[in-house]
Amino acid sequence: MADFDLIVIGAGPGGYVCAIHAAQLGLKVACVEGRETLGGTCLNVGCIPSKALLNATHQLHEVHENFEKMGLMGAHPTVDWDKMQAYKQDVVNGNTKGIEFLFKKNKVTWLKGWGSIPEAGKVKVGDEVHTAKNIVIATGSEAASLPGVEVDEEVIVTSTGALALGKVPKSVVVIGAGVIGLEMGSVYKRLGAEVTVVEYLDAITPGMDAEVAKSFQKILTKQGFKFILGAAVQKAEKGKGGATVTYKLKKDDSEHTLEAEVVLVATGRKPFTDGLGLAELGVELEKRGQVKIDGHWATNVKGIYAIGDAVVGPMLAHKAEDEGMAVAEVIAGKHGHVNYGVIPGVIYTTPEVASVGQTEEQLKEAGVAYKVGKFPFMGNARAKAVFQAEGFVKLLADKETDRVLGCHIIGPGAGDLIHEICVAMEFGASAQDVALTCHAHPTYSEAVREAALACGDGAIHA
Ligand SMILES: Cc1cc2nc3c(=O)[nH]c(=O)nc-3n(C[C@H](O)[C@H](O)[C@H](O)COP(=O)(O)OP(=O)(O)OC[C@H]3O[C@@H](n4cnc5c(N)ncnc54)[C@H](O)[C@@H]3O)c2cc1C
Repeated sequence: MADFDLIVIGAGPGGYVCAIHAAQLGLKVACVEGRETLGGTCLNVGCIPSKALLNATHQLHEVHENFEKMGLMGAHPTVDWDKMQAYKQDVVNGNTKGIEFLFKKNKVTWLKGWGSIPEAGKVKVGDEVHTAKNIVIATGSEAASLPGVEVDEEVIVTSTGALALGKVPKSVVVIGAGVIGLEMGSVYKRLGAEVTVVEYLDAITPGMDAEVAKSFQKILTKQGFKFILGAAVQKAEKGKGGATVTYKLKKDDSEHTLEAEVVLVATGRKPFTDGLGLAELGVELEKRGQVKIDGHWATNVKGIYAIGDAVVGPMLAHKAEDEGMAVAEVIAGKHGHVNYGVIPGVIYTTPEVASVGQTEEQLKEAGVAYKVGKFPFMGNARAKAVFQAEGFVKLLADKETDRVLGCHIIGPGAGDLIHEICVAMEFGASAQDVALTCHAHPTYSEAVREAALACGDGAIHA
């Protein structure tokens, strides 16, 4: 008799969701976590603390930029950075404690410590070895490093250091114009820092629909962001009061330097599987270090599965969660499924940016005949009322069948609006189905309906 039906290693959104769902399905489950608190990168040093800081600084922006326009007069608040950090930590603590409660409620045993797999069917935590019929690797990811750039988490930081700086810096250089860099850049921009983003590619947010990315860059530039694109960072060196970043412009190979109080390295993340003993076990990895899995999240070693940031696919909390649910179903003898074609991506800046399904560039490359329905938030009464009329909804539908193929939104509430299209895509809906659905007035969601109308006879308010 094994001690557990399932031991999950790692209690991030992939691991804890997997553990809870497996327990719901009647399995005896343990989850190993080496951190002091549950919730993984997401709850401790990722999604949640970054959104807390984005919320606080967005409110500050509203006070400075929009309150007087609405007749709200009076002294402007100033920033107490320590208090803002304490608020962020409270949000983190509330959420991580919440997972502890859910573990107790669902009778999931938390094995505290760093786990390894000495052999299939066994997990070692500290000096104890536990047996399990199945093991799920959900050990997540860590910040990728950049040659010539040594992180100290004080002056030259990853997102983890950027979430907990000792004080608000006057200037920040962000290396990498991806989601994390632009979100944390927004936080410090709103707090008054000069923010310069250096990006290797010629556009920001690689992989995003190009029209949206271009518009996003324009809006951020208007907010005061500086962008240096097509630039390869050579090194970052700590000096007095900050650091110097050296980069080469790809177009002419010329070398330049930038000084900043803080340098944020945001060049992506890499899978973390250190200390598990995968090489000794013979678990196969992909070229880029992810654990290799089949269509059912199984590795090449029987009884060992892997999910989340530790495997291929977008490094997103909800992707990890969906895989956690699905692999729990598989292990319980049911049919787990993840539709990788309908995984939304969101950037929580102001305005928000959200997308699901195919971009225009992908459709062109695949030779799919498509139509575009676009609607600007300028035509949305609610967006205008709250000074957030920048941006648009862009819906892509099959030219022949009208089936929704993708949606890209830049504008207020984009991260929530996108889910209407996720559901539509799951149901194989047409743009007309969305257009014929009554949407409450006045809501931002009317812009989604208008974009769907624009795929047919035309939008009303544009
Ligand atoms: C700043 C930032 C902002 C982000 N914002 C978002 C966002 O808004 N939305 C979004 O979807 N995604 C966001 N992400 C990405 C998201 O955090 C990850 O995709 C998600 O956490 C991956 O979940 P996971 O369960 O695979 O791994 P993780 O959350 O990384 O959890 C893995 C856990 O495993 C533990 N572990 C590792 N090895 C062992 C071991 N041997 N023994 C015991 N425990 C171990 C680790 O301590 C960790 O707690 C953000 C990431 C960062 C860094």
